[in-house]
Amino acid sequence: MILSIESSCDDSSIAITRLKDKKLLFHKKISQDAEHAQYGGVVPELAARLHAVTLPKILEEAKSYFSQLKAIAVTNEPGLSVTLVEGVSMAKALSVALNLPLLGINHLKGHICSLFIEAETLFPLDVLLVSGGHTQLLHVTNLDEIKLLATTMDDSFGESFDKVGKMLGLPYPAGAIIERYAKKGNAKRFDFTIPLQGTSSSLLAFSYSGLKNQVRLCIEAHGNLDEQTICDICASFQRVAVAHLMQKIKKAYKERSVEHFGVVGGASANLYLRGELEAFCASKKAKLHTAKMEFCSDNAAMIGRCAVEAYHKDAFVAVADLKVRSSSKDIFY
Ligand code: ATP
Ligand code: FE
Repeated sequence: MILSIESSCDDSSIAITRLKDKKLLFHKKISQDAEHAQYGGVVPELAARLHAVTLPKILEEAKSYFSQLKAIAVTNEPGLSVTLVEGVSMAKALSVALNLPLLGINHLKGHICSLFIEAETLFPLDVLLVSGGHTQLLHVTNLDEIKLLATTMDDSFGESFDKVGKMLGLPYPAGAIIERYAKKGNAKRFDFTIPLQGTSSSLLAFSYSGLKNQVRLCIEAHGNLDEQTICDICASFQRVAVAHLMQKIKKAYKERSVEHFGVVGGASANLYLRGELEAFCASKKAKLHTAKMEFCSDNAAMIGRCAVEAYHKDAFVAVADLKVRSSSKDIFY
């Protein structure tokens, strides 16, 4: 079994994954949403202090598996360095104390592996990663060969939901709340412009800061917002945010075939986005792969699933060599 730790942002999570059949034997996550909500976003220092309290609590519950462990895995990049350090320090201490090899896991590869919890991997696979920090279109030949087809030039997809939510006075994180309001709204009421529409056909990129500013101007123009207007803004914003993703995805695969397409990351829980991706995949005769809702946002189960692959490749790292990195640009080529 492998014990895996995730602390790259504001979720403390530990998983125990069985090596032989990838079964998830233990999984617990404690989210800090409530603690950060009053600040309108994640406060790194507060997040780190909370991890220092919650990770040991979860670890206590996983103690009965200690004698059967073969390795310790931990997210070491990308993420907030002060929160990554909490998980990495715990992993290093466990590795030394239990005399077990250590695996450093990339969080984005972890998100990709959320598609394979308790299942075999499936490659090649094209993946849309939509999270709080990333908006990337990837061609994954395997976990060591990942080509970046498109990324965002500014805000990420999930971040734009959070920022629009903040402008509307909604609590952080706002993604799921905006989706809920959008269901009750008129998506055609506000005619926001789809970003980067007129750009040259060679530019394959995403951009969300302009759309966020359009929403800001719309909110300012309205003054006091009634409930229905909030729902209409959410629905209109969500429609355009997703239309932008879809326009660029269609452009990327215009002359490219795709058989298996996955969507991962916290924002992949959005059912409107999933619906649009279903339609795109049907048009390309591709299969859409989604993670179970509970594995879309950050969790140690996906890190554990990735760690099983790393374990079989002997990708162990010496305790003194495992470093945290806030960004991980070089995992893609
Ligand atoms: P990264 O993985 O890039 O380091 P992260 O780990 O902080 O970033 P995740 O936990 O994967 O991000 O995803 C969180 C983001 O997903 C938040 O921005 C949140 O608003 C967004 N999100 C969650 N549910 C939904 C939803 N239903 N619709 C849109 N966005 C959503
Ligand atoms: Fe994440």
